[in-house]
Amino acid sequence: MNKAVFLDRDGVINNGDLYYTYRLEDFHFNPDVFEALQLLSQNGYLLIIITNQGGIAKGEYTKADVDEIHNWMKAQIANHNATIEEVYYCPHHDSLEACLCRKPESGMIEKAIARFEIDPQRSFFIGDGERDIKAGEKAGLRSIKTNKNQSILSICQSIVEGKI
Ligand SMILES: [Mg+2]
Ligand SMILES: [Zn+2]
Repeated sequence: MNKAVFLDRDGVINNGDLYYTYRLEDFHFNPDVFEALQLLSQNGYLLIIITNQGGIAKGEYTKADVDEIHNWMKAQIANHNATIEEVYYCPHHDSLEACLCRKPESGMIEKAIARFEIDPQRSFFIGDGERDIKAGEKAGLRSIKTNKNQSILSICQSIVEGKI
């Protein structure tokens, strides 16, 4: 069984001030994020990003926009010696259709847990929103709330040192 750290995207990995981030030029990594992800990778944690992208259902942008930004994001992170195993995104919006993936539901996390043989009890969710915490807890992960756009390095240090 593997251990993993699940991360929200907007506000955790990148600046989350825009209503929707779907253009490369609007995507700005938050402080220390490469160092934090590298630390987790080096300590044997699989890294998985779980993000709501309801702007797709609303027609604000497309899956192709999201895939492009994610491929670029993964490449930047790989350049800093950390590996994102997978990015799961929910393309639905609760104002238009119900689904089991959009956080606070835990469908995306459950999928990853099964696919990557993850032990939830040794795994974490880091998010800046209440629905991240709800989704993480629903999947049995230790869930840690960070402030939007704040460095997650100290949280990640606590994880690898076993202090959380
Ligand atoms: Mg967020
Ligand atoms: Zn969904």
